[in-house]
Amino acid sequence: MNGLLFSGIKKLTFTETPDPTIVEAGDVILKLELAGICGSDLHPYHGREEGLDLGTVMGHEGVGTIVEVGKSVRSLKKGDRVFVPFTSNCGGCFYCERGLTCRCSSGQLFGWVEKGRGLHGLQGEYSRIPFADSTLMKVPEGVKAEEALLLGDVFSTGRFSAEMAGVSEEGTFVVLGCGPVGLASILNAKVMGATSVFAVDTIAERLEKAVLFGATAIDFKKQNVKALVLEETDGRGADGVIEAVGSAAAERLGMDLVRPGGTLCVTGVHTDKAYSFSPVEAYNKNLIYKTGRCPARYYAEKLLPLVREKRWGIDRLITHRFPLKEGAFAYQVFDEKRDACIKAVLTT
Ligand SMILES: [Zn+2]
Ligand SMILES: [Zn+2]
Repeated sequence: MNGLLFSGIKKLTFTETPDPTIVEAGDVILKLELAGICGSDLHPYHGREEGLDLGTVMGHEGVGTIVEVGKSVRSLKKGDRVFVPFTSNCGGCFYCERGLTCRCSSGQLFGWVEKGRGLHGLQGEYSRIPFADSTLMKVPEGVKAEEALLLGDVFSTGRFSAEMAGVSEEGTFVVLGCGPVGLASILNAKVMGATSVFAVDTIAERLEKAVLFGATAIDFKKQNVKALVLEETDGRGADGVIEAVGSAAAERLGMDLVRPGGTLCVTGVHTDKAYSFSPVEAYNKNLIYKTGRCPARYYAEKLLPLVREKRWGIDRLITHRFPLKEGAFAYQVFDEKRDACIKAVLTT
């Protein structure tokens, strides 16, 4: 088959790679229809995290059709159209039973092969999905492939973030960074009933989209974020801040904006080794700090019926489409935010 392979820093190649095969009895083989490019794919792309083997098929967001089924697979069959949460999960361990599917004891992240171990990603014509029964979800009638794709990661991460930040009808919430996860957090906060949501970014098109989703835009370069949030909250600060950037500066700003007893939710993937604030500051603010990877499988199950019924138009998050074979170019456009790109998908 052909796949989009990691070939070095900022270098991807669409080329021939071995076909995936059934390894465990619970595996299926998926034929790709739609794959997403995610902000976290940019970490190995830029070489910010060491370890990804050359030749790894990239990507962890996908929708496709099952073409081969392992012996012990019960709930899925050949021809089923499914979507993939970004990690595999066994469905039966301590963590899976508690809904923390992202920390499954035998779960793996798609698109991460290191020293020959791990799972290839979904940005290839075919991929192997372990624990298919508990990992995959069927795409029901009435749900678009794009919506299913976003439920496998970005939209679910948005709900997870909004819940972590304690979003409610009352209260003032701030979302730092209007990339796909920030925008998905805004969309979720609004459908959860939040009335006051500030969206902070510097890119006009992203702020416009945030406004479209119901937030009040703050251009970080032109406006004083802290003054605006304090003014809105009688000088207290925000009840909850969602940091959807993954940078020390954004985390620091979140700390400055949150009120005493409020929640700072850090959902951007961090590679920093230390916090951008001190334990003293956290103590003096009675800070609630929440962070971590979204248990996407758990959230997808919760959100799928709602997305189907309420027609929130979550696929408005997607701005660009490319053929899979032009994936290397698509990464450049997405990485450089060229042509107002917010979220790019690859089609076969
Ligand atoms: Zn993702
Ligand atoms: Zn598990």
